[in-house]
Amino acid sequence: MTSRAQVLVIGSGAGGSVTALELGRAGYDVLILEEGNRYEFSDYGQATPEAMRRLYRRRGMTPILGKVPIGYVEGACVGGSTEINSGFWHRVPQEILLRWKAQFDLDVSEGELGEHYDWAEERLGVGLWKTEWPKSTQVFARGIEAMGWSYSEVPRAAPGCQQSNACARGCPTGSKQGMSRALLPEAESHGVRVLAGARVNRILERSGRVQGVVATLRREGRNQLVRIDAEHVFVCCGPTETPALLLRSGIRFHVGNSLRIHPYLKVAARFDERIDPNESVLPLLQVKEFWPELSLGGGFFSPGQLAMTLSENWPANRGHMADSRYMPQYYVGVRGTGRGWVRPTVFGTEGTLTRYELSSDDLRNLSVGLARLSELLIAAGAKEVYPSVWGVGPIRNQMDAVRWLDELLPKNALSLVTVHAFSSCPSGELRKKCATDSQGRVYGYENLYLNDASILPDSPGVNPQATIMALARRNTLHFVSAS
Ligand SMILES: Cc1cc2nc3c(=O)[nH]c(=O)nc-3n(C[C@H](O)[C@H](O)[C@H](O)COP(=O)(O)OP(=O)(O)OC[C@H]3O[C@@H](n4cnc5c(N)ncnc54)[C@H](O)[C@@H]3O)c2cc1C
Repeated sequence: MTSRAQVLVIGSGAGGSVTALELGRAGYDVLILEEGNRYEFSDYGQATPEAMRRLYRRRGMTPILGKVPIGYVEGACVGGSTEINSGFWHRVPQEILLRWKAQFDLDVSEGELGEHYDWAEERLGVGLWKTEWPKSTQVFARGIEAMGWSYSEVPRAAPGCQQSNACARGCPTGSKQGMSRALLPEAESHGVRVLAGARVNRILERSGRVQGVVATLRREGRNQLVRIDAEHVFVCCGPTETPALLLRSGIRFHVGNSLRIHPYLKVAARFDERIDPNESVLPLLQVKEFWPELSLGGGFFSPGQLAMTLSENWPANRGHMADSRYMPQYYVGVRGTGRGWVRPTVFGTEGTLTRYELSSDDLRNLSVGLARLSELLIAAGAKEVYPSVWGVGPIRNQMDAVRWLDELLPKNALSLVTVHAFSSCPSGELRKKCATDSQGRVYGYENLYLNDASILPDSPGVNPQATIMALARRNTLHFVSAS
């Protein structure tokens, strides 16, 4: 079966939805192909195992291989990872943009991105918390103030958040503005078609021109192979699947060799006072004192997540599951200066292999970060701090904490996770490093564009969604005005 669209957008997450909306508004005939399914909003907020089966890639269990394996989580549904993220919102700092200019010759200025951030913030209702901070935020603020460090409340794309603590299960109240709520309905009102359950296997190209794609459509338990032709193709499959698709299609120039991530180390802290983290929004503050290499903030809480953190030292810690109402979770996040790669597996079209090696700076920053976060939490009144590191902790006092300012955490005992990956196909004018030009056009191809997390030249050091959306809009409007 063969069909056609003027423009194909592959993937409906942060990058793909912005791209499709702006193309639709400009009058293009746009078809979005999205591997994941589309769910009714009334189906959001299911119990964790069911939510993960529906909304996540590999039910949330994608390994990043390496000497220290890292658990990677991303969405695979209409709206992509924006359906399950926490909605924290950061503009990329000016200094990082300058570094992207210096290292990749990325042709974009802070002023130029400003209007696109403004646009996205208005669409998504980005703003600060309106009422009293929840308890897990209050104790965190108390600790930061006791340490005398700078911090800020991070705005979120969740106007009217009702503290259902269900961001990661798909917001059941409609507050969190995933793309399926915030942009896709408007895109569809401009004629954009969304085909869910359609995984693109291969991009068809000849002599630097893309002809279309081959995709597998999942329909009522059966797979159907289709060819869809197009004049232009935007690949927005996210930081690991975009390079995997390009490589499977024989498109290799600086593709998949420079994956970056923000590695995260989780800790749980036990207080004397009731925090009830399961009944409130996750902690809203980030410590800025050690930015950009290091940030400290609030982790998502569920009893299952707490069990995972405690499980690193389960025989000693398991009794604390009974204290879960007293035990919020926080994290150490590092900018990530290690390097990784992405490769498709040779078996079939489903598998993607991802690898990242922690740099020595990453290990140093994680160790220092654990020291700083533990100092803060103990200053806030925590009785014990439990890091997700086998054989380490509990940390009970400032001396236990500061030890990690000078010692390195045992690498093989770390249990790390990430939800932020990027830079697998960096964009910029420097051809010796970049896969696309500054506006996302793939080098060597007239009509093939990337417009998602993969094109961030390097790790932003802050939550990435805002910058993915701002760059995606800028690039799409550039495409519209140039064609
Ligand atoms: C649990 C979690 C919490 C997070 N919290 C935050 C936060 O608070 N703030 C923040 O800024 N960022 C956060 N992030 C990260 C942020 O959501 C992502 O960086 C962002 O959504 C990436 O955008 P993207 O367009 O590159 O990819 P995605 O949004 O992941 O979209 C990619 C889409 O492409 C589809 N796709 C992939 N391959 C194919 C294929 N071959 N064919 C068809 N479709 C395909 C996928 O199914 C997916 O829907 C979080 C992420 C997660 C998972």
